[in-house]
Amino acid sequence: SVQKKKRVLILMSDTGGGHRASAQALEAAFRQLFGAEYEVTISDMFVEIAGRPFHKFPQQYSYAANHPWFWKAVYYYAGFPGTRQITENISYWLMQKKLRDALLEMKPDLVVSVHPLCQELPLRALKKLKRRDVTRFVTVVTDLGGGHPTWFHKGVDACFVPSNEVYKLAKRAGLKDDQIVKSGLPIRQSFWRAASKSKSRLRRELGLKPDVPAALVIGGGDGVGGLRNVAVSMAETLGQECGSRGGQLVIVCGRNEALRKNLQSLSWPVHVVVKGFVSNMSDYMAACDTIVTKAGPGTIAEAVIRKLPIIVSGYLPGQEYGNVRFVVDNHVGVYEPDPHAIARVVVDWFGHPQKLKQLSDRAAVVARPEATLDIARRIHALLSSSRS
Ligand code: UDP
Repeated sequence: SVQKKKRVLILMSDTGGGHRASAQALEAAFRQLFGAEYEVTISDMFVEIAGRPFHKFPQQYSYAANHPWFWKAVYYYAGFPGTRQITENISYWLMQKKLRDALLEMKPDLVVSVHPLCQELPLRALKKLKRRDVTRFVTVVTDLGGGHPTWFHKGVDACFVPSNEVYKLAKRAGLKDDQIVKSGLPIRQSFWRAASKSKSRLRRELGLKPDVPAALVIGGGDGVGGLRNVAVSMAETLGQECGSRGGQLVIVCGRNEALRKNLQSLSWPVHVVVKGFVSNMSDYMAACDTIVTKAGPGTIAEAVIRKLPIIVSGYLPGQEYGNVRFVVDNHVGVYEPDPHAIARVVVDWFGHPQKLKQLSDRAAVVARPEATLDIARRIHALLSSSRS
């Protein structure tokens, strides 16, 4: 018999690299598990569906992420119930027609939101269209240790949470036990299995020295968070304390092209590889012994899967604080915002491999490489079951 394809719309926005990455990971899981049974569409709700005046939302986010005071103001403004409602009403009024048109055109069987601002508005639009009874709606939370209040909506069929901490937040927001599903963070396919090549082979392929301990330095998809100071300080301290064979760095600048050019023009006291946006992060992580990163949830979940001890160098106030707690409370790394102190931690770890090993073993316990496939399977089960 010919069966109708199930249509899944994944709503996200390109605020940082993490949300699109999560969306693509879920799409890949549906493809691997169910093939042609599903038609998955990923859409940036603000840029591709709503358009003006929301089309610059990702750039505005990037600005905010680089200006913490501004970020803090917006974050708490959007979380406070009174102002939150006003913002949601204005946003809905501005984008409702386009949102409804998009939903009517696609007629998804299921909407998956992987973004904190994609609950209330699409759910309202579905209700208004009287399509809520034929369209399932699930949220997959992509914050590891905390969660902005707008993540949690009582009207969802399921809310997937990646940690106990987020589970508690969902409960506190009023979601019922049977709405909340404990899973992990959706992570792209290259992290679902163990690294396919040895560390020394990967190091050679990536331009690193095979026998020198390596630290990966990264500031999310946008290369934010004082990456330059951290990298320079690490290189100087490693050079002074351990000489040129004591350590090496891979600095991944993500989409921050200005930073990449700047760092590539410097001369370094230790071996350094500077990259822009890399698509083979799994290889870079498998090639290194530790990672220094701002508290991006995607990067942290990936690093844990690759058993990399983590030094969290900073976080966006509000949104990312919970991810710092996740690292510290699970003993998979430390929080250290001072570039010189970060450098000293790395020197200490490189001089005491047993410390690295201990953190690495903890990471293996916390890692959830199977999470993405697990979420896709559970969503499939939800769609296959009849509504109660
Ligand atoms: N990333 C990548 N290549 C880069 C820089 C980052 O693939 O050059 C990935 C990184 O591995 C992670 C994501 O981008 O999966 C960043 O997400 P995260 O949640 O850590 O931070 P965000 O950028 O969303 O704030």
